[in-house]
Amino acid sequence: MKAAIMIKALGYAAKHSYSRLKPLEFEREEAQANEIEIEVLFCGVCHSDIHQVKNEWANTVYPCVPGHEIVGRVTRLGPGGTRHAVGDLVGVGCMIESCRHCDPCQSGDQNYCEGPNSWLSTYNGPMVPAAKAPNGGNMYGRDNTFGGYSDVIVVNEDFALKIPANLKPEVAAPILCAGATTYSPLKHWGVKRGDKVGVIGFGGLGDMAAKIAKAMGAQVTVFTTTTQKLEEATRLGIKGVLESDKEAMKELSSSFDFMLSTIPEKHDINPFIELLKRDSTLCIVGALEPMAGVNNAAVAFHRKRVAGSLIGNLADTQEVLDFCAEHSIGPDIEIIDIQDVDDAFKKVEKGDVRFRYVIDMASIKRDKSV
Ligand SMILES: [Zn+2]
Ligand SMILES: [Zn+2]
Repeated sequence: MKAAIMIKALGYAAKHSYSRLKPLEFEREEAQANEIEIEVLFCGVCHSDIHQVKNEWANTVYPCVPGHEIVGRVTRLGPGGTRHAVGDLVGVGCMIESCRHCDPCQSGDQNYCEGPNSWLSTYNGPMVPAAKAPNGGNMYGRDNTFGGYSDVIVVNEDFALKIPANLKPEVAAPILCAGATTYSPLKHWGVKRGDKVGVIGFGGLGDMAAKIAKAMGAQVTVFTTTTQKLEEATRLGIKGVLESDKEAMKELSSSFDFMLSTIPEKHDINPFIELLKRDSTLCIVGALEPMAGVNNAAVAFHRKRVAGSLIGNLADTQEVLDFCAEHSIGPDIEIIDIQDVDDAFKKVEKGDVRFRYVIDMASIKRDKSV
């Protein structure tokens, strides 16, 4: 086999769990059959980037170049590629490959891939690394993948989404993760016009969840812990409730058709189960860790459901991009330079950011040695 030709890439990487992100020169394989090379224009800052960089899920492969809310321009096609053309604006979300053979993949749910290594994450390698795979192997041949905090990325064309013409690239970026993660469960549980939808947490995911549910015609209520975010909700024309407001919480008892928890860490969901109607679902998308116990009396007495959902499949990700373009909605964003990413991480961690930071990747040119 011919050795792959490598291309130079420059990214921002963490070398270990307590390191700041610093420039890292590395190489990527040139676009192979059905792959495309993309010049990264913008990359959103997702809370999971921070979890991953700090090894909070105990699975980080270093050096870690995060970033899975990528929008860029196609600069080169590998042999045989037909889905995109040079010059196209495309997006890459959390996944860059899946096994393509398992039941979920065959049904289009690549994000629930049950192949030996599950799906290949845009950064940090396969979801199930070789050490944990049943056969001890890695079908993707790469233990680490480098994400969108970089100037260039190469992915299979099937895993690149089309950015609608009337969506600004910097606004489209966070839709690739935050948009897909919230749109997918709203669609799966059939949220429709007139439904009462509760959104728990009002950060980057909550912002998208509230806007999408509203555009679907639902009556949306967001639940937050700060008066500042309550005011933000009002500004957006969305009803807000303080979680600590016992009286308001009581009044909403048994009134919601669907609830989505977007809080990025473990929290008590029992007060929200009380707010669900009979036969309704509370879905958790933010926290990916053990949660405190659920009071099953509240669940069983009214046949309620507590569920989870992970990002979105490729079709849903394309759909939510198109949906946002059609309804003229998108995340509230603040554009930053890559050199300021550590400060952005700190603010996101403190939880006082409702908007999404989006990195203007042109800023990385300043770190080029030549
Ligand atoms: Zn994300
Ligand atoms: Zn699969």
